[in-house]
Amino acid sequence: MAITDKIYIKNHRQIVSQIETSIPKSAFAGATLDLLFQGEGLAKLDDATRDRVLDFAEDFLDCDCQASPHCGCPERKFLRYLLDLRAQGLGPQSIVDVMGEDYMLYAYTGDVRSFLDDSIRTLEAVETLADVDGRTETAHRAREKRQQLL
Ligand SMILES: [Zn+2]
Repeated sequence: MAITDKIYIKNHRQIVSQIETSIPKSAFAGATLDLLFQGEGLAKLDDATRDRVLDFAEDFLDCDCQASPHCGCPERKFLRYLLDLRAQGLGPQSIVDVMGEDYMLYAYTGDVRSFLDDSIRTLEAVETLADVDGRTETAHRAREKRQQLL
């Protein structure tokens, strides 16, 4: 399961009662993305919640793909967001805290930690393969990215 399947809406019960529509707890579930994308019912949210929800939509659902929001861009952008936080020096618990402040989302610290470990291993594999192939530039970039995550 991808990390984006384990990102949850923090104040889910409150949101559901405000918009009077049932949505999954998972932020990247198809039905949740549809609701955000269409903006239906969002006017019923209290100001603080609506601001966070709109920030999320602006930051992750802003692509022009025809299949949006089911094109994979939202998930890819969110992975980049997590990796950027890590590159800024945040640990798994701080990353969970920041996503709560930014977007009212939460994840389990252990899931974020596994995601970061997996990303490091993937970059290691890219680096090794690129080295073997003599693609020094690719190897160099993978090494740089990996070092940012350590
Ligand atoms: Zn897209």
